[in-house]
Amino acid sequence: MKNSRKYCEKCATLLESRIIEKRVRDYCPSCKLVYYDNPLPVASAIVVNQKREILLVLRDREPQAGKWGLPSGFAELNETIEAAAIRELQEETGINGEVMRLIDTRSLVDAFYGDLIWVTYEVNIIGGELQAGDDAREAAFFNFENLPPLAFPTNEHAVKNYLSQYQQIWMLEDSMDTFDGDRLQSENELPSDTLFEIMVRDANIIAENWVIEVVSHATTPHYASRPRKEIFDIAHRIISELGRWITQYEIDQHEIWSSYQNVGGDRFSEGYKLSEVISALSLTRKHIFAHVLARSKSWREPLQIYRVIEFMSRVNLFYDKANYHLSCGYEKRRKDF
Ligand SMILES: [Zn+2]
Repeated sequence: MKNSRKYCEKCATLLESRIIEKRVRDYCPSCKLVYYDNPLPVASAIVVNQKREILLVLRDREPQAGKWGLPSGFAELNETIEAAAIRELQEETGINGEVMRLIDTRSLVDAFYGDLIWVTYEVNIIGGELQAGDDAREAAFFNFENLPPLAFPTNEHAVKNYLSQYQQIWMLEDSMDTFDGDRLQSENELPSDTLFEIMVRDANIIAENWVIEVVSHATTPHYASRPRKEIFDIAHRIISELGRWITQYEIDQHEIWSSYQNVGGDRFSEGYKLSEVISALSLTRKHIFAHVLARSKSWREPLQIYRVIEFMSRVNLFYDKANYHLSCGYEKRRKDF
């Protein structure tokens, strides 16, 4: 939007309209001054508290009076855009902040103000007390799930940008609380759950691949002589149990591990070496990793990488325990024999 001016600000000559650098601009024929009209810079602050709530202000003035928005305002002369964000935050909410990083820059043509360049920063609270001031009627923290419609599309865009960056980090933090490296501490979903879904869905394929290897592998000679269907069922059961153990919060641990004790005992009775049984079990894990990791395509973002690491550590935990109970069962039956 072009400013409307009639006379030269320097010499008061009546201005002309001329096409200069492909645009119609005000031009002073006397002092040859070209008036360039540029967008105005606006700074916004995204402040999020410990509870992951975002600070909004209820606007008291036009434009968009009566709507909630990010604490925002124009940069003054001799003021950096970051300082403008901090100052506006202080004036409108009473909060003292420090700029952490740039979240969003966006152009906006506003009916009221004209062309704007909107710059939004993530700001950390370093002091102050929440109190609405300046042109804000109210200032309050909002849960991201219950955000009111925001005053400007640039605010909406910045919040979306902020969330796309932070949701992954929050999921990662929550995951570490839910899975403490041993047991699920709650029923919250974990990032690696999606990979376990692939594993359970493709249990047949994984078990078949395992059968092909185990009947020909040097460390597992006994398996070649057993009916394919029978050993397929072994692998399929392991994968299903693993899926159950992983995804069900409050599962009967005792039942699963005593079944591995029984399997260990049975293999001794059937004449297998312990090393062979453990090798066969390890091969199932190898095929789980090979199959699932090939389908995860998970190396582009930190959360995706974390998802794979979490998946592997949960699977490994299961196998550590399964190996232990299998060996115990095998040894116990051997002693009793
Ligand atoms: Zn002039």
